[in-house]
Amino acid sequence: MKFRTHIMTAAAVTAGGILLHEEITQGGGIEGWEAWTNWVGFHTPNFLTGNGEEGGFWGVIDYALALLVASIGGLFPDIDHKNSYISNKLHFSTAWFMKHRGPTHTIYMYLGMIGFYWYATSFGTVHFSGFDFSGRAEVNYLPLIGEFLFWLGIGSLLHIFGDMHTTSGVRIFGARMRAYRTLPSFLIFSTGGGKESIFMFLYTALFLYSVLGHFEGLGLFTGLFS
Ligand SMILES: [Zn+2]
Repeated sequence: MKFRTHIMTAAAVTAGGILLHEEITQGGGIEGWEAWTNWVGFHTPNFLTGNGEEGGFWGVIDYALALLVASIGGLFPDIDHKNSYISNKLHFSTAWFMKHRGPTHTIYMYLGMIGFYWYATSFGTVHFSGFDFSGRAEVNYLPLIGEFLFWLGIGSLLHIFGDMHTTSGVRIFGARMRAYRTLPSFLIFSTGGGKESIFMFLYTALFLYSVLGHFEGLGLFTGLFS
């Protein structure tokens, strides 16, 4: 997949997961589903607001940060390719000691990141307890790092999920295990083909639906559509 498709896949499914979580937890609850999104850990992005507030200026910033970090995660595993978008941006690649679609395309590190989020939030979720007059913030760093790693891990897993749309599949459990693909063979494509454009279109639609749904849930469009 091209880097744009990876960014869109990660941003769209992350936004979709957040929206699903919101709809389920606020819409009276759907048994089973609620447990599922809680288990995965989709939650109201919590970088700066600390209290899980969705609305307001900081709620919007938090939401944007989550999608931004997940999008970076959507590029991260290709750091093992010396000509990938992210390697070019960072002027760094692990290609000299790792083969492409090797260790950075397994799920372990990213599950660890998500696990760290659970660990970190057991120390509280208040990241910023406010600014004092000198402009310094009191920051609870551990949950903040946990929050960052959570969305990075989600985005990275979605990169692997995206690569699993391609012909070669991905060895998500490691080199000695089999390669998995997400889709039936008639939907599988090789990078840059016409089918990839179709997926780009579908993920863009999911992204717009999810972001608009999120803001609609905040009451942004109240009056526009009623
Ligand atoms: Zn990749």
